[in-house]
Amino acid sequence: MEQGTISKVSGPLVVAEGLTNAKMYDLVRVGKDRLMGEVIEIRGETASVQVYEETTGLGPGDPVFFTGEALSVELGPGLLASIYDGVQRPLNVIRDKVGDFITRGVEVSGLNREKKWEFKPTAKVGDEVSTGDILGTVQETVIIEHKIMVPPKVKGKIKEIYAGEFTVEEPIAVLEEDGREHKVKMLQKWPVRRGRPYKEKIPPDEPLISGQRVIDTFFPVAKGGTACVPGPFGSGKTVIQHQLAKWANAEIIIFIGCGERGNEMTDVLMEFPELKDPYSGEPLMKRTVLIANTSNMPVAAREASVYTGVTIGEYFRDMGYSVALQADSTSRWAEALREISGRLEEMPGEEGYPAYLGSRAAAFYERAGKTICLGKDEREGTLTVVGAVSPPGGDLSEPVTQNTLRVVKVFWGLEDQLAYQRHFPAISWLRSYSLYMDETEKYWTEKVDPEFKKLRADAMAILQREAELKEIVRLVGIEALSVNERILMETARSIREDFLQQNAFHEVDTFTSLEKQFLMLKDVMHFHEMALEAVEKGVPIKNILDAPIRERISRAKFLKEEEIGKLKDLFKDITSQFKTSNVRGEQYA
Ligand code: ADP
Repeated sequence: MEQGTISKVSGPLVVAEGLTNAKMYDLVRVGKDRLMGEVIEIRGETASVQVYEETTGLGPGDPVFFTGEALSVELGPGLLASIYDGVQRPLNVIRDKVGDFITRGVEVSGLNREKKWEFKPTAKVGDEVSTGDILGTVQETVIIEHKIMVPPKVKGKIKEIYAGEFTVEEPIAVLEEDGREHKVKMLQKWPVRRGRPYKEKIPPDEPLISGQRVIDTFFPVAKGGTACVPGPFGSGKTVIQHQLAKWANAEIIIFIGCGERGNEMTDVLMEFPELKDPYSGEPLMKRTVLIANTSNMPVAAREASVYTGVTIGEYFRDMGYSVALQADSTSRWAEALREISGRLEEMPGEEGYPAYLGSRAAAFYERAGKTICLGKDEREGTLTVVGAVSPPGGDLSEPVTQNTLRVVKVFWGLEDQLAYQRHFPAISWLRSYSLYMDETEKYWTEKVDPEFKKLRADAMAILQREAELKEIVRLVGIEALSVNERILMETARSIREDFLQQNAFHEVDTFTSLEKQFLMLKDVMHFHEMALEAVEKGVPIKNILDAPIRERISRAKFLKEEEIGKLKDLFKDITSQFKTSNVRGEQYA
């Protein structure tokens, strides 16, 4: 093994001389404790290494060992339900080995080497297979079947394939190519900084259903798409990420936590294992991989964690699954990048962030997508990436938010003003946007209702008009509004309170199916149209505002999914109340 020598140590950064064969992103072992590190800059024979463990005690003259491998993750059965640090070391294994405080140089592998998995072959002797073809399956957890694929750059004719219980390192098949044999194991490795190969990327066209009304109806993200949730502290970023993890109709969840304060991450570590998967009733962890960076872990590990997460996500995508990856928050990742860049003495860009912040953010989000995977069956997989950003002071003009907005296609803008008013989710309906409207509209139209597009557009127009009218009211008072405008203001309030506001902690309200979302909004808008007609006929506005049926509209969100037929009854009752009476129950001509 080639060996170099440390010439300088600066926090998580170590400069080493004499690593003549080193390449960018190669893995090295630093010092006598063999701390894990990665080459991030090369100048002649001098290599800068970011170290994923505490560097205290290292000094000039200490050895650096070159491994010749790139920083990689281990892929195979055993990923699900794992809780890893930023460089895929399972936290529970480290704890069992060395106690609560992570000591340095602990070598633990990402996947358990002893555990045996039952492999059921689906391919047979004689089959010609290549990268991505499925050889067989392992029931990894009660809910997820792990597909064992031919690893990248491998192909041949199956000479032998075994059924039975194997560890990830034992061969499950032997392939033959030009007289050479290749033993295939369930364990694969893949360098984290490089996207895994696929056949083709195709445009995302199906919504990732979150059950959150403001998201699904107004600002949908597509399966395979990208979204960003910037918001000041306390505005509800974490609740949104949890709601997505819990309710999104993705099969696999990858959650990358970069806590700023230690306890923030502890909350996630405590809460996640308790969450129940609403679709299967099993613990959510059975289809989740958690990557946790606590604040006492070195910054460099935080920098690597998003790549570790996205690579694991791509691997499940390759099996044909829909994967939702959430990173909370990417600002912590960017700060790690800034710190390392500072130590490399690179020319700082805006607010001290390196000039390549934008290209790094883009490279991360670009790994999302809907793909036709490698393999004969041309299966499709999706990887959706949602990043939270925590801009200091909620200022969206700061570099991390700006660089993220440049690459993602959905923006859920949280407003502390809304959070103060306890309007949750505090997603601004005026500033947020989604560039997947057209793609997902087709799905709504075909699967839910052809009227959806118009309904959504009408409701959004009312919300936008409300903002303008509010300004007028503020300046000259409510008297300045016409009766039609008064009705519009009331409808806008109803859209906000009866539809957009959604309590994540209410048993029923926490999730709303698309069909229920449609029917709820339709009732709100139906009342609006009937009200406009009524004022036209001279019904006093007060009668309309006092209409008892409005109470039923406001309680619609609490109707269980089995009861959504009642939303159709409500629609009819709105009509009849306006048709037969002056809305308060008295007849009018
Ligand atoms: P952040 O991560 O942005 O600091 P949190 O996600 O922790 O903020 O949210 C702060 C608080 O706001 C939560 O503890 C909760 O009380 C409230 N909250 C946020 N979203 C919702 C929601 N959808 N329903 C009910 N309460 C919410």
